[in-house]
Amino acid sequence: MLNQLTITDLCETLDKKEASARETVEACLKQIENVDGRIHAFISYDGQNALAQADEADRMLREGATRSEKPLLGVPIAIKDAIAVKGHPLNCGSKILGSYVSPYDATVIERLKSAGAIVFGRANMDEFAMGSSTENSAFGVSRNPWDMGRTPGGSSGGSAAAVAADECLASLGSDTGGSVRQPAAFCGCVGLKPSYGRISRFGLVAYASSLDQIGPLTKTVRDAAIVSRVISGWDRRDSTSVPENVPDYSASLTGDIRGMRVGLAREYMIDGLDPEINAAIRTASEELRKLGAEIVEVSLPHTEFAVAAYYIIATAEASANLARFDGIRYGLRVDGKDPIELYSKTRGAGFGSEVKRRIILGTYVLSSGYYDAYYLRAQKARTLIRQDFLNAFEKVDAILTPTAPTAAFKIGEKSGDPLQMYLSDIFTLSCNLAGICGISLPCGFTRDPKLPIGLQLLGKPFGESAILRIAHAYEQSTDWHREKPPECLHLPN
Ligand code: GLN
Repeated sequence: MLNQLTITDLCETLDKKEASARETVEACLKQIENVDGRIHAFISYDGQNALAQADEADRMLREGATRSEKPLLGVPIAIKDAIAVKGHPLNCGSKILGSYVSPYDATVIERLKSAGAIVFGRANMDEFAMGSSTENSAFGVSRNPWDMGRTPGGSSGGSAAAVAADECLASLGSDTGGSVRQPAAFCGCVGLKPSYGRISRFGLVAYASSLDQIGPLTKTVRDAAIVSRVISGWDRRDSTSVPENVPDYSASLTGDIRGMRVGLAREYMIDGLDPEINAAIRTASEELRKLGAEIVEVSLPHTEFAVAAYYIIATAEASANLARFDGIRYGLRVDGKDPIELYSKTRGAGFGSEVKRRIILGTYVLSSGYYDAYYLRAQKARTLIRQDFLNAFEKVDAILTPTAPTAAFKIGEKSGDPLQMYLSDIFTLSCNLAGICGISLPCGFTRDPKLPIGLQLLGKPFGESAILRIAHAYEQSTDWHREKPPECLHLPN
């Protein structure tokens, strides 16, 4: 079925005129009808709009548009509800934006559209991307296609579940501390967090601006390379985007990793690591060795400070970024007798409890009496963490770690205990603190229940080509990525 294809295979099918973009969108919409009542990957989607985009793509295909001009022509891609798509609702998983509709496209959306992609659907997420399970969405939880009692991860849980359940060919998420990679790991797909500055965030609702990046969730490493190339590059509307050339990532997928050096970080083999995950990572490193990579032990000695530093810096930045939701400018407004009462009533009614917790924490760590004790120290720890990585990358091309300490946890298992939830980000958030890149891809399954396990490859700043190359070689030598969640297959047409 067309919705089950990878981007690479769909493009071939469309180019040979064996199927149309309209049929592809129809297949995705059918799958959404069949499974999304249970999975709830989407907050909303506009099928007619997607079909209209498909007809336009079919017209261009008939007129002989080429893949070099339009690498994603006819490919349906779902979008996290934090990224602006002109004329579509944007809620960021929150009630506070009310009935807000984006008046413009985010830069990544402009780029997807000009590459011919069919941009559709608002993928569910934790409110303002704060969370690791999509349980903090104001629109209800999303479920993991591999086990409906479990979370798809977060905060881009809807984006990951939609790809894993073949409701779309790929999706975009955003990653501030792991929100692309961890849901990719939980749902058995590929998720790439590009280096800080690689991709414009213009049109992404800001959570923590020194950490946020947009990244793709896909079915294969090659597809991640294709989408990343399209959306990467300098943008004058995001002053943190870097004017560096974007390499042809697909060209680095040679399958040959002989002589490349992959580090295993001592500090990442922690006590809380699930034994099955530990074993899967060891087996994966053995596989990389067989493929000709050299496995080297590296040390990232400041890892123990990462969770604390992250939750200080991220909340501090969030408390400033979220000040704009005041009931005056956008969305929801709850009136009060004066502006102060209006602000507090609007924010009281519009934000969920995790967002409020973060705003309060962030305001606290920035307050004059505590700034030095918390915020400044967290920034110093951040510098040390970045330096750890830069030192390690003098010796290795990539660092191999688990993406998360456990496979997908149960809905409700951690939602009452924020600290446990925060600790589950231990392996992903250092990457954002350091501004480096990282990819998660499938590397096995737990036995009972059968749940996907993700491995993470971390790369140097702007070292996406190297991690994609290693990830692709590993993927080609294993079959994990071919497995599908059984409940989502073989549904009536
Ligand atoms: N779980 C982390 C947090 O809650 C990361 C979220 C993200 O990457 N957006 O902040």
